[in-house]
Parts: sequence; structure tokens; C-alpha cells
Amino acid sequence: MPELPDLVIIKERLVPQLLNQKIRSVEIVDPVVVRNLTGGVLDDFYNNLSFLKIERNGPFLDFSFEKMNIVIHPMLSGKFSLDPKYKKKDLCVRILTDGPTLNYIDDTRMGKVYFLKPDELGRISKYKEQGLDLLSEEFTEAAFLKTMEKNRQQTRVFLMDQSKLSALGNAYADEVLFAAHIHPKTPCNQLSQKEKSLLYKSIKEVLFSSIEYIRNKNAPLDVKVRDHVKVRNRKNEPCPNCGTTIRRANVLGYDSFFCPSCQPAKGQQFINWNRSDS
Ligand SMILES: [Zn+2]
Repeated sequence: MPELPDLVIIKERLVPQLLNQKIRSVEIVDPVVVRNLTGGVLDDFYNNLSFLKIERNGPFLDFSFEKMNIVIHPMLSGKFSLDPKYKKKDLCVRILTDGPTLNYIDDTRMGKVYFLKPDELGRISKYKEQGLDLLSEEFTEAAFLKTMEKNRQQTRVFLMDQSKLSALGNAYADEVLFAAHIHPKTPCNQLSQKEKSLLYKSIKEVLFSSIEYIRNKNAPLDVKVRDHVKVRNRKNEPCPNCGTTIRRANVLGYDSFFCPSCQPAKGQQFINWNRSDS
């Protein structure tokens, strides 16, 4: 579930609840999601440590303790909750503190919970290979255009390449392309300067407005807020701009939703809508 805007809000809401709380125990309910890189028994490491910092690195949430870290990569379906309603059997990992209990839930078990020392962060797949953080000051239009230089990837594939941009998932990649009026399969090197500039502005606009929306919605931490999306998962619904039926296409193995009128295909990228992948 969580994409960048979700993780920003999750972090924002966990910090005041967990910071300086002391761990009482770490319970691994489903070891499938756990990667223990400490080489030891977790209880020995986490006993009496306090939450010092909670940070986001791209799609990862990084919880820092004295000389220890827990990094969670929630992937598609990972959820966080401080709600005591969760029964132990429904969880993957539970961290009990002197204050609230942090629950990590993951129905597909695709996410990962890493236990490690800070100097081992590089051992987490893709942790250190994240590209430009889309919410950072470094994400300027000049830096964005440089990243895109000479790129021949389809625009949607480029947007989701975490080694370049950190990080857009399926939902917000579709929303950004819709806002920028760009067909998901358009190769980056076929975009005009004006389109690239609009793409940059759309990334910022979509992310910041979504963060604002999710913050104001103030839903429970484990509830996915997506009712503001305009095209994602809205196949056969009317486009909110023009009323054309929203389509779904396959872009390198991923479903992409778009409006064929607002986001027309360019030249050779024309798609025959009678084909089965539409
Ligand atoms: Zn439209």
C-alpha cells in the first residue's frame, strides 16, 4: 500500500508517538518478512533501546536506536498501526514499548523488516541506490532534466526507476503522467522541453497535494487513502477532465491507467485499442 505520500504521513504520525519510547520486546510473528542482519539473537540487541529517530529513505522507513536500526520496506501491502485492536496472529512483527505498540502487518508478505547495525545499511537491497529524493531540495528542475538526459525508457518506466527518482510507485506514476498529459509509453527522448518541464511540475504538484490530502483526511494509520486519485484503478470510469473512458495498458509488466484523450500516444507509440491488453 504505502507510496511516498503515505509514508510521509505514517512517519509524521509515528514520530510523536514513538520517539524516546523504550523497547520492551520485539516479537517476530511471521519470520518470512524478517531479515536479521545482526548475526545475533534480536532480543539481546533490542532490550531497553529507545527510538531515537524515524526517517524515510525513498520507500523505506528507518527506525534508529542506540547502535541499532530497524528498516522496514513495506512494498505493496505493508501496513503500520499503533492500534491495540490487532491480534498477534494477524501481525508480522510487533514492537512493544513503554508507550504504544508498533504493529507491522503485511497480508502478501512481500515487504521486509530488516534488523541491523547502522553501518550495514548498504546490505539492504536498493537502500543506498536510491536516486533523487522527490521531496528533497535537491529535486530541482535542472537535476530532474539531467537525470532524464538521453534517456530512452518509456516515461512511466523512467518515473518508477528508483535509482533515478526516489520514489514513485504504480499509483502516483499514473497520477503524475495524467497531470502532465503524457502517455505512459512515450519514450523520454520523444518528450519536448515543455513536456519535460510539465512532468517535473506534475511530480511536485501531485505529491505535495496528495500529502496534504492524506494529512487532512486523518484516516487510521492502516487505512489506504486513495479516493483522491484521478485515473489509478479507474478503468472504464470517465476521465475527470474530458469524460473519455479511462484505459488500462501494460507497461513492462505493470498495469498503467490513463486517459487516451488527455494523454494521447505519440507517433509510433499508437496503440490499437482493439487489442487484448487494453
Ligand atoms: Zn481525459
